[in-house]
Amino acid sequence: LSLADKLALDKFAVDEGKPHISINNELCQTCTDRACLRVCPAGLYSEQDNGIIVEWAGCLECGTCRVVCSPGAITWHYPRGGFGIVYRQG
Ligand code: SF4
Repeated sequence: LSLADKLALDKFAVDEGKPHISINNELCQTCTDRACLRVCPAGLYSEQDNGIIVEWAGCLECGTCRVVCSPGAITWHYPRGGFGIVYRQG
């Protein structure tokens, strides 16, 4: 299976209107690395109007983006109970 095919096997219970990831784009302006664009295994980060956006609803909850963000611009917590990714086995 390709990565896209594997990601398509996951299910998401999206907590509409309550993102579990937020970005301080003022801090992003100070960042020359922008590692978030490269490390997210689901490719959820992108640049828009010289800022960073994240499509949080497809988050795999690995936490990598929070760790690599050098200016500390990402606020991240797990989704509320009952929401977020549902991994399928096999
Ligand atoms: Fe991507 Fe992992 Fe961050 Fe979710 S926690 S946005 S999957 S890097």
